[in-house]
Amino acid sequence: MGICYIDQIKDLKEKKVFIRVDFNVPQNETGAVTEDTRILGAIPTIKYAVEQGAKVILASHLGRPKGEKKTKYTMAPASQRLAELIGIPVKQAPDCFGAEVTGMIDSLKGGEILMLENVRFYPGEEKNDPEFARGLANGCDVYVNDAFAVSHRAHASVEAITKVIPVIAAGFLMRDEMTYFDKAMSNPVRPLVAILGGAKVSGKLEVLEKLVNKVDKIVIGGGMAFTFLKAMGYSVGNSMVEDELIPTAEKILSTAKERGVKFYLPIDCVVADSFKATATNFITPVQEIPDGWMALDIGPASATLFTESLRDAKTVIWNGPMGVFEMDAFCRGTFAVAEAVAGCFATTIIGGGDTDSAVRKAGVENRVSYISTGGGAFLELLEGKILPGVKALEG
Ligand code: AMP
Repeated sequence: MGICYIDQIKDLKEKKVFIRVDFNVPQNETGAVTEDTRILGAIPTIKYAVEQGAKVILASHLGRPKGEKKTKYTMAPASQRLAELIGIPVKQAPDCFGAEVTGMIDSLKGGEILMLENVRFYPGEEKNDPEFARGLANGCDVYVNDAFAVSHRAHASVEAITKVIPVIAAGFLMRDEMTYFDKAMSNPVRPLVAILGGAKVSGKLEVLEKLVNKVDKIVIGGGMAFTFLKAMGYSVGNSMVEDELIPTAEKILSTAKERGVKFYLPIDCVVADSFKATATNFITPVQEIPDGWMALDIGPASATLFTESLRDAKTVIWNGPMGVFEMDAFCRGTFAVAEAVAGCFATTIIGGGDTDSAVRKAGVENRVSYISTGGGAFLELLEGKILPGVKALEG
């Protein structure tokens, strides 16, 4: 069975529509929202429901309160930011279920919005507890999942609740995420290039094993490159290496060779004498990383090589920075790749929280086709997994 989308539901007027959003947004010490991409992403769905005259009930998690009510993790700042962005008031419930919340839901008028409190204030959420899901559902008529970034989790507000509310659908953000992913992976215009970076091979092993059988080119940067370079016999100093994964790296390299996948690794890097923004650093070929030094970015020759590898790309997927881009001294490789991806005449899809912020820091966010709101969910799709939250919508 296919997925039903919110705009395929006939009459939302006066219906109680429960929308699972992902407002797990970064905040500063005073609790103010510092990055609202995920809130912005859910607005088209929320606005649509409001315009249809639905009574809108929003639910989300924030942080890791570990099943306890902790004021630090209240949804209030996120609902306040939503109100500013959407231009209508958002009521904040004191809890996510219970008599008081039921009263607030019952007194909602069509077109009004109520934000429930953090669903992870109760252990039932992460346990996918049906009883907790029933409490959350609270007599709602329609359930909409627009929380792509949490759809790889079988949690109560994502999975169990779909068994309790009679009508279930996906929102527009979810539709965009799945559509772009499908375009890139199910029937891609080739050459299809995957760029992977970030800290460790272990975090992306399954993804690499899957991609090597699907893509035309793989470009590897970031800390994960050094396990591959070590597997090829280079001495990589104190760079990040997962020794136990060297045989796996060798296997991935040989599969790439068998399949004719072009495999790009850094040819030079920026090495530092410590993992600090102020560390002494210099550029060196990967063949000459001195003992005791660690590579924290790809070098300019690698940036040129990677840029050239993208020249004929028609579809590009990118997850993970090329270096420790959070530190100015080691951000150039990531920014150069961001510029190269933005300059491609291709469908370009960016996934993962870090890559998202790197692309924004590089100022090219408007020149890529799509920035996914999902980190873990995006990686699980790349691995070929079916997300529980998506499966639940298929009925
Ligand atoms: P991930 O969550 O696996 O995508 O990793 C992202 C993190 O990898 C970022 O915080 C980067 O600072 C870090 N990173 C990227 N390149 C390196 C490197 N060469 N050495 C250590 N950490 C790195």
